[in-house]
Amino acid sequence: MKKLYAILLIYSALRAALLFSGFYFTPDAVLLNEASKYFSEDEIARSMYYFRWGYEFKALMALNAAAYYFLCVKVFFSDGFAKKAARLESANPYISIPVFVFEFYAGFALAVLPYRFTSGYLKENFFNFTALSSSGWLFLFLKQTVIEALIASLVLIFIKSIISKFAEKWHYILALCVPAAGLFFSLAAQFLILPFFYVSSPMEESDLKRKLLAIAGSNGVAAQEIYVINESAYSNHTNAFFTGFGPFKNIYLCDTLFGPHAKSEIESIYAHELGHYIYNHEFYGIMTASAAVCAAILIINLFIRRVKIPPRVLTANFNRSAALIIVFFYHLAAFFAMPAENYISRRFERASDRFAVEAVINYNRSALKTYDAKEAGENAKNLFINLARKNLSNLAPDRLNYFFFATHPAIVERIKNCEKYK
Ligand SMILES: [Zn+2]
Repeated sequence: MKKLYAILLIYSALRAALLFSGFYFTPDAVLLNEASKYFSEDEIARSMYYFRWGYEFKALMALNAAAYYFLCVKVFFSDGFAKKAARLESANPYISIPVFVFEFYAGFALAVLPYRFTSGYLKENFFNFTALSSSGWLFLFLKQTVIEALIASLVLIFIKSIISKFAEKWHYILALCVPAAGLFFSLAAQFLILPFFYVSSPMEESDLKRKLLAIAGSNGVAAQEIYVINESAYSNHTNAFFTGFGPFKNIYLCDTLFGPHAKSEIESIYAHELGHYIYNHEFYGIMTASAAVCAAILIINLFIRRVKIPPRVLTANFNRSAALIIVFFYHLAAFFAMPAENYISRRFERASDRFAVEAVINYNRSALKTYDAKEAGENAKNLFINLARKNLSNLAPDRLNYFFFATHPAIVERIKNCEKYK
């Protein structure tokens, strides 16, 4: 119990440090100086305004979430809670898991809702980004929360069944399941969850599409189709992404890209995603995360052995408290794991950025007699500048928040790398 509170305190302190650093050390002086070479003063000011807008709500949300976590620890270990759970479990040993997980998520959603509404809807509306109505946004938030709670419940029911069936060896069995589960979730995200939020349709036939497929072909990818998702139903943020592994790899372009971005920029972004595709980044990402989860399972098992909990007791007690503590730890562990996860992500992004320029050069050199490598670098550079402009990206994030949260290298770093091609 005391240890739980200690972990929560560390979490809260770190959160506070990140908020403090984000407010007082953004913009970072070095990055800002670099950014001023590519962006006008107005653009820099506007992106800072976007970053700062509603910052007090961001701070309040962190405070509220931390308070909710503290409250959870108190409630999970109360007698009243145990009694309610015992009643549920006498009917069915599995039923208490989804009941309490949904309670946990409902409480969490309520704790963050006013602030999420501010940053997700009011702010996006103020900057003309959102295509949703306020009720549309609320419905989306509800949908996301329910899906998250549903996934958490299923995972926990699965863990309970493994612990019940393999009392002595549960940790080995569970560890073996982790990579398979990771791959399964990747597929579920692409083929079940994505269609739940987006309509994806094949890109219309055009010179651009033929060229994109030719770039893929000249780099050894026999892509048949390019998918476009209707991001415009939600916002006018522009983006593209890659997902999947093995035969399920696909690149998706947001429909919002067409129009605001030149064809040469769309070529660059597609080539970037092609880099993720060819390097199998999602597969390696899942495997790295699985290794971390397996290590966590084995450590938890060592701990259980040390405090000498017999398997029988473990099975009987894998109820709402254990389930909630796992959800709870998952929330915290996901936060503490972010720097490592994002460090790997930034490495992947750098590799894809390099690949993107080289892929366009390769393609053009095989298709044309002469091609200046500088052009591919220029196109990628324009893409990054335009992406940052259109999405009001933070051009000069402070070091601590960058280290913790940045999934991509800083914009100016990406732009400068494009200038190496001469
Ligand atoms: Zn990327």
